Amino acid sequence: MKEYICIVCPLSCDLTLTDTAGELSVAGNTCKRGETYAKNEYTNPVRMLTTTVAIKNSTHPLLPVISSAALPKNQLRKCLDILYKLKLTAPVKEGDLIVANIADTGVDIISAKTVSVL
Ligand code: SF4
Repeated sequence: MKEYICIVCPLSCDLTLTDTAGELSVAGNTCKRGETYAKNEYTNPVRMLTTTVAIKNSTHPLLPVISSAALPKNQLRKCLDILYKLKLTAPVKEGDLIVANIADTGVDIISAKTVSVL
């Protein structure tokens, strides 16, 4: 049995997931979205990745970036390690591709901000 707090809406329902020989059942959800959330958390938890990377010759020392889609939770550390080693150079526009197919996940990392040359 696993317990989760649903983060899909502000009601924050307390969810209980039971795995009976591979048959998943969820209790405590007020709506169907909570059931889906708990099952996804149990079978394949994913998260959007947002962070900052170093950028030279820029009006700001750090560039905010975001993943183009949710990444497997167990790949986040590896993705962050790749991003923290980057040394970008301004200028960069919002939406520019920063890393394609990061860690072979099929997800791209894109710039979340336009930064100009210092
Ligand atoms: S189960 Fe439904 S009502 Fe409850 S927090 Fe999740 S989305 Fe909101």
